Amino acid sequence: MSGSKKGPLFLTNTLSRKKEEFVPLRPPHVGLYVCGPTVYSDVHLGNVRSFLSFDILFRWLSHLGYKVRYVRNITDVGHLVDDIDEGEDKIAKRARLEQLEPMEIVQKYTNGFHEVMRLFNILSPSIEPTATGHLIEQIGMIERILKNGYAYAANGSVYFDVPKYAEQYAYGELSGRKIDELIANTRDTEGMEEKRSPLDFAIWKKAAPHHLMKWPSPWGEGFPGWHLECSVMSTKYLGRTFDIHGGGMDLKFPHHECEIAQSVAADGAAPVRYWVHGNMLTVNGRKMAKSEGNGFTPEELLSGDHKLLEKGYSAMTVRFFMLQCHYGSTLDFSNAAMQAAEKGLERLMKAVDLLPALSASAQSDADIPGLEARCYAAMNDDLNTPVMIAELFEAVRIINSTKDGKQSLSAPDIERLDGLVRAMVFEVLGLQREQVVADDHKAMDGLVKEFIRLRGEAKGRKDFATSDAIRDRLAALGIMLKDTKEGTTWERG
Ligand code: ZN
Repeated sequence: MSGSKKGPLFLTNTLSRKKEEFVPLRPPHVGLYVCGPTVYSDVHLGNVRSFLSFDILFRWLSHLGYKVRYVRNITDVGHLVDDIDEGEDKIAKRARLEQLEPMEIVQKYTNGFHEVMRLFNILSPSIEPTATGHLIEQIGMIERILKNGYAYAANGSVYFDVPKYAEQYAYGELSGRKIDELIANTRDTEGMEEKRSPLDFAIWKKAAPHHLMKWPSPWGEGFPGWHLECSVMSTKYLGRTFDIHGGGMDLKFPHHECEIAQSVAADGAAPVRYWVHGNMLTVNGRKMAKSEGNGFTPEELLSGDHKLLEKGYSAMTVRFFMLQCHYGSTLDFSNAAMQAAEKGLERLMKAVDLLPALSASAQSDADIPGLEARCYAAMNDDLNTPVMIAELFEAVRIINSTKDGKQSLSAPDIERLDGLVRAMVFEVLGLQREQVVADDHKAMDGLVKEFIRLRGEAKGRKDFATSDAIRDRLAALGIMLKDTKEGTTWERG
């Protein structure tokens, strides 16, 4: 990869609220942590959008030549998302409803999550640690926070002392919240009699007798606070301070704000250099949520079996639709937009298929290096996929008009355009051919094999004129035959 293409890459850092040039701590290595799923319910499309945003970041960093260690956790401790949700363990609740052992629930929803990720061609992380696999480290971090005086134990639970921390550090800097406003807005909650301040949050919670997922600790049987697992697992695998932490916008507060406070209080170092947050998916202008009745699952989307869906849409249509919006903007789901994305993706893939059939001219009258530079510039500008896709449609226009003889491209430019379009479509945007296309491929394979058989027969009777003609005519259609010891194979040239 040439230096000019490579960078610099700019990312919007939530911490500074600015677009900043991304410079890794230890190039070419990049540490990337993304908050993963909670495994007691199905993933909905809003979750898919969030994981897709970081899939693009992972793919782009890798494409630029960085060696990315990508950590995405599995939240398999059944604690709830904040102290206000005291009471029932969500995994235990699901286990009771589905009459399964809690770890069966964890496995079931983890498998389901992985299936959905595969369906949308979202790449696997380098490490996928689980909260239950890191209890010892979580207890260790609580002990360091206690030792440094930023937490206190009360009745078998341990609370983070927010006012004490805020005396020295900027609590609220990530989410832009002010301590006084936070106090004014805090509701009375169950743990209140134990907490010194309503802002304090549990880093260890004493388990009620009926609580299923609990572990022994120096403070008695209990379970860790939700924010703790990410602090522990990110720094364990990426170092005390690492490059990029990502997650959905809704995780900024309290989850990520608390992660910063815990790391600083335990180890005296801000954990993250670039905080990146993906925006929400709305449906007809309303936030996607199960409670709104618009939080449809990927399965419902594919089958079209939901009152808000006019028909089913393929996973790649959804992926393409989502990538036509910048990750930092809200994206509204509508049937009209999905149908437009479906047509657009088809046009794009058809143009990709035309690439091998383009014939070269002596001169080019299209600026392919300029097009390439604009694709890279768009991606380096805070992963601007909508602008990059617009450039790909310029490539589609050039391909189609070259095919129709209205434009000419030199052989090196055809090669460059081919490389660029394939890299952006398949590697960077992660688009795949649809099942229908796969079926077409199967039919095509049968057809080509039939020609290979006829060519073999011609060769057998020493009719080389016919066998060569078959080979050449297929080559003109972009189907290249290759003779090997095992027989003849084919591929698109
Ligand atoms: Zn997290």
